Amino acid sequence: MRVVIFGAPGVGKGTQAKLLSGKLKVPHISTGDILRHAATSGSLLGKKAKTIMDAGQLVSDDIMNGLIKPVLSSPKCKDGFILDGYPRTVAQAAALTKLLDDLKTRLDKVINVKLGDEEIVRRLSMRLSCKNCGRIYNIQFDMLADTKECLNCGGPLYQRDDDKEETVRKRLNVYHETTAPVKEYYEQMGLLKEIDGDGDPEMINSEILTALQFS
Ligand code: AMP
Repeated sequence: MRVVIFGAPGVGKGTQAKLLSGKLKVPHISTGDILRHAATSGSLLGKKAKTIMDAGQLVSDDIMNGLIKPVLSSPKCKDGFILDGYPRTVAQAAALTKLLDDLKTRLDKVINVKLGDEEIVRRLSMRLSCKNCGRIYNIQFDMLADTKECLNCGGPLYQRDDDKEETVRKRLNVYHETTAPVKEYYEQMGLLKEIDGDGDPEMINSEILTALQFS
């Protein structure tokens, strides 16, 4: 199963991709996680990426296409993958089509998770992520101890720098201007399926699984 989970920042792409990855037994590939990992490692690419990410902007297509190619070509992705955060521009979508053509395969489905901007701003201001395992929490709904440790691995929970309201609004502008046109690209390929992102994550995941089964 080769799937793209698409949508604005904060619609729950990461949560949905993680759930699907566990159920379908294919790797979850998050370009945001790859960049954040590079940033913590202190590499030159990581440092550059962090400045761009903290400003709510997009890392260049060349860098992103170069970054994703070895991952999707690797043996771990040979039976499928759940892509989260890529492609984010029409040029990246075209590069992905070309890469999959070269690998003699294609996408099965692109799931567009929909949510209104104000709900996104509200959600992201309450989001905490685990520094170790990447699990995502909601300050309001998840029962977290004052120590703010991950319930999964005990790792420290933190608010991403780019989840501050001002940066979230910039990321939403970038999404509407540059990323949203990717939907039409996949609509024309007959791959797009829209899912409402407002609701219980497990219920949304069942809807996605149903959409994938009937693809
Ligand atoms: P995410 O975790 O998917 O929200 O990504 C966090 C940030 O990483 C984004 O706001 C971008 O700055 C950068 N990023 C992740 N994926 C891409 C991509 N495909 N193209 C450009 N920038 C990206």
